[in-house]
Amino acid sequence: MEKILLFYPPGLLFQRGEDRCQQNVDDGSAQAMRACNDLGYAAAILLKKNYNVKLCDYQTEGFSMDVLHKDMEEFKPDLIMMSITNTTIFSDLKIINELKEKYNPITVIKGALFYDPEPAMLDLLDLRNVDYMIGGEIDYAIGGIADYALRHEGDISSVLSILYKAEDGKFIKTAFHTWGKSLDDQPFPARELMNNALYKRPDTDEPMATIQTARGCPSNCVFCLTPGISGKCVRFRSPQNVLDEMTECYEKHGIKTFFFKADTFTINPKWVKEMCELIINSPLHGKIEFTANSRVKPLSKETLQLMKEAGCFLVAFGFESGSDEILKLIKKGATVADNVQAARWCHEIGLPFWGYFVIGFPWEDRKHILMTKKLIMEASPDFIEVTVALPFYGTPLYETCKENNLLAESVLGSDFFHSSMKGTMHLSMEEVMKLRRNILLSFYLRPSYIFGKMKECVTKPSVFINYCKYGIKLVVNLFK
Ligand code: SF4
Repeated sequence: MEKILLFYPPGLLFQRGEDRCQQNVDDGSAQAMRACNDLGYAAAILLKKNYNVKLCDYQTEGFSMDVLHKDMEEFKPDLIMMSITNTTIFSDLKIINELKEKYNPITVIKGALFYDPEPAMLDLLDLRNVDYMIGGEIDYAIGGIADYALRHEGDISSVLSILYKAEDGKFIKTAFHTWGKSLDDQPFPARELMNNALYKRPDTDEPMATIQTARGCPSNCVFCLTPGISGKCVRFRSPQNVLDEMTECYEKHGIKTFFFKADTFTINPKWVKEMCELIINSPLHGKIEFTANSRVKPLSKETLQLMKEAGCFLVAFGFESGSDEILKLIKKGATVADNVQAARWCHEIGLPFWGYFVIGFPWEDRKHILMTKKLIMEASPDFIEVTVALPFYGTPLYETCKENNLLAESVLGSDFFHSSMKGTMHLSMEEVMKLRRNILLSFYLRPSYIFGKMKECVTKPSVFINYCKYGIKLVVNLFK
C-alpha cells in the first residue's frame, strides 16, 4: 500500500491549519495551538482511498528534525505533504529540499500562499524540489494528487486550486476561484491519527477539538485572505452533521471542548439558532463547551444568549479598530457603535469575550491608535490581542501598501508581530510597536483586571496557573 506522511515541520508554533491567519503562537499574548485539522481532513480522504497514512505535528509535539528523519527512514513514505505559512516559507522549503534530496519522495506543500499565486512571487522561492502546491481546500485536492502521482490515475488538470510541475519543470495552475460545495459530504478529520491532547483550551488545559462549521465570508475586509481563498459565498455544514462530529469527538476521543471554526460563526442567525437548539436538545448538552468567532454585525443579544445556553464559554470578536474612519477604510462593514454594542451585550449576558484588534493600517496616525486603545478600555473584553496590520499577497491591503511605498523588501517571512510594512503613512513601525506594547500593558496590568481574574479562578487553581503562565509570556514577549 502506498505510504503518505502529512506533517507540520519542527520549529516555532504557527497556526498552520488556519490559512486565513497563520498566526505566530509563540509571540502572541494568550493563544494556544489549535488542532491540525488540515492534516486531519487530508488523512481522512486518503484513508478512504486505502493509502497508508502517518500524520505528525512535529512543531507542537516539540520534536526535532532528528525525529522527522527517523520517521522518514522507518516509515519510508512515497509522498510527503507539509503545511506551510507565509512566515515560515523559507525554512519550510529548506526542509523540503533536505527531505527530497535524501529520501526522494513525491513532495506536496500546502498553504494560502499558493492560492492563485503571482509568478513574480513564486520566483522568490526555491521550488526546485517541490512537485505539487495546494493553494485551496486540501480535502478537495489531496486525493486527486495522490491518485495521479502514486497510482497514475485521474486527470491532474481537473484537481481544483493546485499547481503541478510539468515535464519542462514549470508549474501549471489548475482552476482557482471554484470551491467544493457540499461540506457534509466530506469525512470528519481523522482524529484517530492526531494527538488530540496536544491542542488545549488555554485556561483549563483540557483538549480542545476544532470543528469547521462553515467556510467562506461575504465581507470585504481589506486585510483578510478569506474572501479570496474560501469564497464570498458562505458554505454551511448542516447542524446535524456538526453535532455528529461533536458526538464522535466526545464518545471516541473524550473531547468535551470545541472551537467552532467558521470565518464568522454568527453570520447566519437562523443557522446558529438551529445549531444551538440541536445541542441543547442533545445528550451532549451540559457536558460540552465551545468557543466561536463572530462579527459584531450582524449579531443580536438573543443569538449570544442562545449560544451561552448551548455551552458557549467565550466568543471572539474581530473589533479591529476604535476609529470609524479606519473601520470604513478597511471595509469592515461595522462601526465603533456596533463594537460597543456587541461588548455591552456580552457583559449583560455574562458571556466572556475576546477582542481582536489591528493597528498599523496605512492610514493610521497616533490619534487613530489611541482611539483603539480607548475602545479596548471601554469595551473591557476578557482577553485581547493586538496585532500589526499584515499585507498578505493577494489582499487589497497589499496593493495599498505597495502603491504607497510602505512595504519592506518582501512580504514573505513576516507575521502579525513582525510586519513586512515599513510603517504607516504617518508612523514608523517602531512607533506602532511601542503603541502596541503600551496598549497591551495598559490593558493586562490594570489592578482591577488582575484582581477580577484572580477572583474568577479562586476555586480553579489550574486556571489560575494558566493565567499566570500566559501573563508572564506576554510580558516577556513585549520586552524581548
Ligand atoms: S469578517 Fe472580515 S476579517 Fe472576518 S473572515 Fe470575513 S473578511 Fe475576514
